[in-house]
Amino acid sequence: MNLPPLREVIAAHGLSASKALGQNFLLDEQLLDRIAAIPGNLRDRAVLEIGPGPGGLTRALLRTGARVTAIEMDRRCLPALAELEAAFPGQLRVIEGDALAVDPASLFDRPYAVVANLPYNVGTALFTGWLSGESWPPAWTSLTLMFQQEVAQRIVAQPGTPAYGRLAVLAQWRSAAKLAMKVHRSAFTPPPKVMSAIVHVTPEEIPAGVSAKVLERVTEAAFGQRRKMLRQSLKGLPGALEALETLGIDPQRRAETLSIAEFVGIARVLTG
Ligand code: SAM
Repeated sequence: MNLPPLREVIAAHGLSASKALGQNFLLDEQLLDRIAAIPGNLRDRAVLEIGPGPGGLTRALLRTGARVTAIEMDRRCLPALAELEAAFPGQLRVIEGDALAVDPASLFDRPYAVVANLPYNVGTALFTGWLSGESWPPAWTSLTLMFQQEVAQRIVAQPGTPAYGRLAVLAQWRSAAKLAMKVHRSAFTPPPKVMSAIVHVTPEEIPAGVSAKVLERVTEAAFGQRRKMLRQSLKGLPGALEALETLGIDPQRRAETLSIAEFVGIARVLTG
């Protein structure tokens, strides 16, 4: 497929990067192909891309044979994306709008993989939304998302490390989360201030008898006062101190020393 270089697409459509929309574009097609390969074989699979911008990652996804639905908020990008629609007939559907306001369930009648290079705040809000809720497995088969490296490290963090907290428990209690690729700031145009990394998440079996809401309440209380002992931080959560006793968890420990299985154990006792 002979597509013009992304720099030319950006120049031809006047897509100067908007700071307000968190626009930092990836233009290296080899790098984009490597990112599109992270979710595994996408041929004929449904893919949700958020924030396609000038379409660099989009064209890499289309090259894998994926059926891409892309949600973009910046209408300036639509003509560039229309060119991709024409170059890959029947493979791309572009939706203009704010991804935070679109319900993906309304877009797909089959499971889909999510791939996105998003502004930090939008990415985190969508990520927590996709991982929350009682219904599991989710409609998505994997999440492949670019984050600031510091946020990516919090998502994949292990107990006993400073990065371990609510985000790690949320991402890992019923999913596998791994750091798939680090991306240097110089790979973006314009380069952001910080380094980035791609996280890849796949759903796993849900531990029986645990409410996601209850687990979130436990981690919120425990990490809300992460330097305090559990007997202090969990004091306000009815039944939590009794749950520690039932499970033989020392109430003098601090939140960051608890494994995800221990958090899940507490939530299971409280779920009743
Ligand atoms: N995917 C392109 C790439 O990798 O070069 C662009 C990445 S740029 C970091 C983020 C993109 O997300 C921009 O095109 C921006 O307009 C879009 N965007 C920002 N907020 C959005 C939102 N709430 N919903 C949909 N798209 C959004």
